[in-house]
Amino acid sequence: MDTEKKALNIENAVWDGAEDDYGAACFQEGRDKQLVKPSLLLHSCCGPCSTAVVERLTKQYRITIFFYNPNIYDGDEYERRRDAQIKFIDQFNRSAGAEEQIALIEGIYEPEVFEQSAAGLEHEPEGGARCTECFRLRLEKTAETAVMTGCDFFTTSLSVSPHKNHGLIAKLGNAISVRYGICFISDDFKKKDGYRRSVELAAKYGLYRQNYCGCRFAAGACTETGGAETSVAAEHTADGAARAACACAETGGAETSAEPEL
Ligand code: SF4
Repeated sequence: MDTEKKALNIENAVWDGAEDDYGAACFQEGRDKQLVKPSLLLHSCCGPCSTAVVERLTKQYRITIFFYNPNIYDGDEYERRRDAQIKFIDQFNRSAGAEEQIALIEGIYEPEVFEQSAAGLEHEPEGGARCTECFRLRLEKTAETAVMTGCDFFTTSLSVSPHKNHGLIAKLGNAISVRYGICFISDDFKKKDGYRRSVELAAKYGLYRQNYCGCRFAAGACTETGGAETSVAAEHTADGAARAACACAETGGAETSAEPEL
């Protein structure tokens, strides 16, 4: 019997050597109870960005991924991104222990709701007021779902992209957190090499990577620029091959965003 078990034996005065199996089971049960982690609803903008956040938080939280992205244009593109999310979760869970299994909630794909939030903001540049509303829409739905499902925390993978404004995301998340009475994890997930790690993990899991942020405005701007001309990074396609991605890939809410109205 090791020292730790002996200590438990003395404290509880019910476990001696003759009951070692029973005692070991109780001991393990006690350890399991101590290890119950708080639950987290993680809004995921896409499979690749979620990989690095999951890797970073899985030891501390029981994670459910919430895939709610009504901004994505069009329906086929939505399915490609949703399927990449499922592919990542399936593969991750196969090699993860029982304590680190991830669940998935797929939100309703309701592009008309995004269009309402973007009304009047169609000509905003990326990083402008349309992106603020887009973040707000997804964060609000995440907080609402987290409360409904009894989660302890909520957060988002949006800050993984180096082009997305962490300060803006944190402000929105914290304001929504107060309104819904649930804690928001406001970490900047691009820090500590978070973005680079997401690219590595997306390649490892063979995930589809998009070349525009999501909405029809970003897709249109991407087409107009011709993509390759403004290439800033090599992205990884589903088969792991590098391809050029246009500058608007994964952008939105750039650090130059105006202050949001909360
Ligand atoms: S560019 Fe991206 S963040 Fe901005 S509105 Fe479109 S999908 Fe949303």
